[in-house]
Amino acid sequence: MHVVIIGAGLIGLSIAYALTRRNASVTVLERRKTVAAGTSGASFAWVNASAKTDNKAYFLLNWAGLQAHERLAEELGNDAWLHRVGNVEWVSPDSLPVLAARVDYASAMGYDAQLVPAATLNAELNLPLPLDPDYPVAWFPREAWVDVPLLAQILTTTIVQHGGTIRTASQVNAITQQGSRVTGVTLTDDQWLAADAVVNAAGPDAHRIAQMVGRQLPLRPEPGLLLSLAVDSMELPCIVHTPEINLRPDGEGHLLLHHQSVDRTLGDELDLAPDAPPCRELRERAQRLFPALVAATSPRAAIGIRPIPADGYPRVGQVPELDGYFEAITHSGITLGPVLGDLLAEEILSRRVDPLLAPFRPNRF
Ligand SMILES: Cc1cc2nc3c(=O)[nH]c(=O)nc-3n(C[C@H](O)[C@H](O)[C@H](O)COP(=O)(O)OP(=O)(O)OC[C@H]3O[C@@H](n4cnc5c(N)ncnc54)[C@H](O)[C@@H]3O)c2cc1C
Repeated sequence: MHVVIIGAGLIGLSIAYALTRRNASVTVLERRKTVAAGTSGASFAWVNASAKTDNKAYFLLNWAGLQAHERLAEELGNDAWLHRVGNVEWVSPDSLPVLAARVDYASAMGYDAQLVPAATLNAELNLPLPLDPDYPVAWFPREAWVDVPLLAQILTTTIVQHGGTIRTASQVNAITQQGSRVTGVTLTDDQWLAADAVVNAAGPDAHRIAQMVGRQLPLRPEPGLLLSLAVDSMELPCIVHTPEINLRPDGEGHLLLHHQSVDRTLGDELDLAPDAPPCRELRERAQRLFPALVAATSPRAAIGIRPIPADGYPRVGQVPELDGYFEAITHSGITLGPVLGDLLAEEILSRRVDPLLAPFRPNRF
């Protein structure tokens, strides 16, 4: 069984890792010069299920995703990439009932989630939340953030050690078929690679790959802005979500800022200088929350394109009418990478569909 995976983002690398662990022969093809340089390299990379409580199947998949990260750290014997710092979230007073319902739902499902007075968390974490001491905040202690470049580097090394191949600067421009069976891929230099299975893990470009086999893959791509801050003056002990700004640690002396309301103001420009107006907006919001950040500098801004299937949910698995063609496209792909890698590797090798993936099949559209 030789599997060709198109795309070396976290999804493609996770599938390749899980396949090579099961002794399958794998080639990953990546059009960029380095791995994880697409959306995976421009992500807030928060591992959670707590933001997905409105759909049970999706909540369970993401919770399995969180647990798969913990297992992966053990398997690799290296957890330097998985920052298990927990996540605190507060909302405006009118949204408190919704937050309380999310916490109730998650904890009833056995997920670590609590509503606590701000003062308790401030004392426990040494976190200067500017809130009334009794104001309720949600605390999800098991949630984490991922250093994606580091994880991608570790996965790449491990895949190669297990006999897999990763080819960067290798763009797929056709998928070949014999009748309804996929037989391989052609690269832009006309080189042909044979394959028993081809996985479309091309993130926001997945619809172009699907067109190569005559399929529509409706995406709802959404740009998102991340601003890095260099800070000597303040250490953030956990991930923080607020009505105005989300922040997380980003390695020594750095924080990462993001907020979906700022994303909605972005135009078509995909390269923003760190002093461009949307970046300044993120920075000012962070400074209003933590005045110590006034001294911070902004070394880097990045825009990533979320690969969101049209109905918002993952699209994962074998396409029944095309033997050997698989799709793996999702938002929340950092949370879901390791679990989708495991489940799809099993499916590719055994053709059995795990019940966790049953609601997210490619042909539901
Ligand atoms: C601002 C922002 C915040 C986010 N926050 C979170 C979060 O907190 N938690 C979370 O879990 N998720 C988050 N996400 C979503 C998550 O980052 C993505 O779901 C995930 O990175 C998708 O990974 P991927 O491997 O599918 O795509 P990518 O990382 O984009 O990888 C696809 C790869 O395919 C390659 N490719 C495309 N076409 C071809 C071709 N023809 N031939 C060869 N290679 C090709 C591309 O170059 C690319 O490297 C966020 C995303 C954004 C933008």
